[in-house]
Order: sequence, then C-alpha cells, then structure tokens
Amino acid sequence: MVDIEEQVKETIEKYGLLGKDEKIVVALSGGKDSTSVLYILNKLGYNVSGLMIHLCMGEWSDTHKRNMIAFCEQHNIPLKIVDFREEVGFGICYLKDVMKARKNLSGSTVCGIMKRWVLNRWAKKLKADKIVTGHNLDDETQNVLMNFLKGNLFLGINSAPISRVSREIVMKEGFVPRVKPLFFVAEEDIKKYTKQNNFKILYDQCSCSFDSYRAYTREWMGSLRDEQKRKIVEGFLDLVPKISGEQEREVYLCEKCGEPGSSEVCNACKIFAEIGSIPN
Ligand code: AMP
Ligand code: ZN
Repeated sequence: MVDIEEQVKETIEKYGLLGKDEKIVVALSGGKDSTSVLYILNKLGYNVSGLMIHLCMGEWSDTHKRNMIAFCEQHNIPLKIVDFREEVGFGICYLKDVMKARKNLSGSTVCGIMKRWVLNRWAKKLKADKIVTGHNLDDETQNVLMNFLKGNLFLGINSAPISRVSREIVMKEGFVPRVKPLFFVAEEDIKKYTKQNNFKILYDQCSCSFDSYRAYTREWMGSLRDEQKRKIVEGFLDLVPKISGEQEREVYLCEKCGEPGSSEVCNACKIFAEIGSIPN
C-alpha cells in the first residue's frame, strides 16, 4: 500500500511548497483529490482553510457543497463557499455554451479560466499566502501527453508542483502562488485513501472532464503504469529549464480587473467582454 501522506511530505520538502507559518487556502471541489489534500495538510499541521466555488450546476454541486460543509465541520477546518453566479453574474454552463458557440472554446478551458480567476480573487480577500489544488499524477501526465499530441509541449511549461509563474512573480502584488502537493500521487492511490478513511464524497466527475480530448487521452493512458506516468512528468520537469529560455511568459496585471494574466486583458475579462458583462 502506497503511503500518500509520505509522498505529499516529500513533494512539499523537495520543492519547498508550503511553510507552517503560511496561511494556506485549499481549493475544494468536493472531489477525492482536493478533499484528500485538505485532510492531509490539516493532519500535518499546516494552517489550512477550504475555499469552494459553488458552481450552481444542480444537485451535483449542491451535494458537493453539503459534503464539504460536513467534512470541514467534522475536522474543524474553516470553509469559505463562494457562489459562482453571485460572483460572476452568470452560471458556468451559460458561459461555457456561449464561448463554445462563439469562440469554439472547450468547456474545460472556460471552466479552468473562471475557476482560477475566482480562486485568486478570493484567496487575496482571505489573505492567503498559497492556493493548494488537488491536481494529481494522472492529471499532470494527461497534460504533458495532450500538449505533446497537440505538437506544442510549450503549452505546459508553467505546470509544476509550484508553477513557474508562481515562483517568478511570487512577490508581485496580486498573484497568490498555486501549489500541487499531489503532483506525484497516482489517482488510484488517492481513491483508495479516501475509501480507507471513509470520506463522504461524490466520485462522479465534473462534466468538463468528459471534454473529448482529455477523455480520449485518459482512455489510452489507461495502460500506463504509475511508474511510467512518474517518468513522463519528471522527464518533462527536467526538460522545462532547457526548453523554456526564450519562452518565458510575461505576467501582466489585467487592466480591467487587476487579476494576473498572460496579456494586458486577462482571459476572464475576455470572456466577460464576449458576454457583455462586468462583474463587481
Ligand atoms: P478540475 O479542474 O475539476 O480537475 O479540478 C482541479 C482542482 O481545481 C481541484 O483538485 C480543486 O483543487 C480545484 N477545483 C476544482 N473545482 C473547484 C471548485 N468548484 N471550487 C474550488 N476549487 C475547485
Ligand atoms: Zn481581467
């Protein structure tokens, strides 16, 4: 049986992800990964709280919300729930449909942009030093392979246990560094861990994960062993400094909302402009 608490400790130490004196916000979807990382960091004595975006996608998100309220109460962990519709003015499904129809953006791209935008805004309000997400070894392997198949490995050069952008602009106002303590932990081991600890959670996946390209990659990745997945992501991490020299991304603070992004207007504000609304 793999000791995933030990794997998390090793990753935190090796990459200097988190300090015991830091205020850490765990981005909680209610799924197995983010629930486990919150539980483990709390057990290891980090100053953690949960931050959940209630996506307002019917019973699926209501159940996640109820589960996380109960989980955080049980473990005495503060939890902030942000209502996506109140925050942005529209439901996530509406944004996904419009951006698909008008710009052919995939649901997972829109969802990812909006979640990062809301999480960074709220992590700042909560005065967090770091945002933790539940991305695991399988997610990271999928990313490397998807980018490889798209013929553009550079798309992933910011992806690491602590993202390169985070390290570089860690002191820059407006950006809360994002870290991934489960980066080297296999999805199956996390699943076993949640069952072993009797977490009351939903195992259904977000509709974004059925996005065709990711689903297709996940399907044929099924024959890879965890050791091979680790080699793929480690090999990619080793490669990044060698290939990224002239590809360094500049980070801007968006001229409309003040949030960090890769151009003068951030991706979330590009979506808001398309929809014709400006959130508060
Ligand atoms: P996903 O993009 O759904 O694979 O989720 C990746 C990570 O983003 C999760 O492990 C969480 O840490 C975070 N996350 C996803 N959905 C939410 C949400 N509704 N609220 C807060 N964090 C989330
Ligand atoms: Zn913006």
